[in-house]
Amino acid sequence: MAERVKDPVCGMEIEKDSAKGSAEHMGKTFYFCSPGCKEKFDSEPMKYMEKA
Ligand SMILES: [Zn+2]
Repeated sequence: MAERVKDPVCGMEIEKDSAKGSAEHMGKTFYFCSPGCKEKFDSEPMKYMEKA
């Protein structure tokens, strides 16, 4: 069973194995459904961390 994680940018639940990207911020790892979501997170990590 794959671990499910939440994409902090769009709020979608994804499987860790099928994530299109990941980013580490302040000791936490975030996973994204698409490269676009990762880009958004990378440009404004604080904005999305609040929601995560
Ligand atoms: Zn997404």
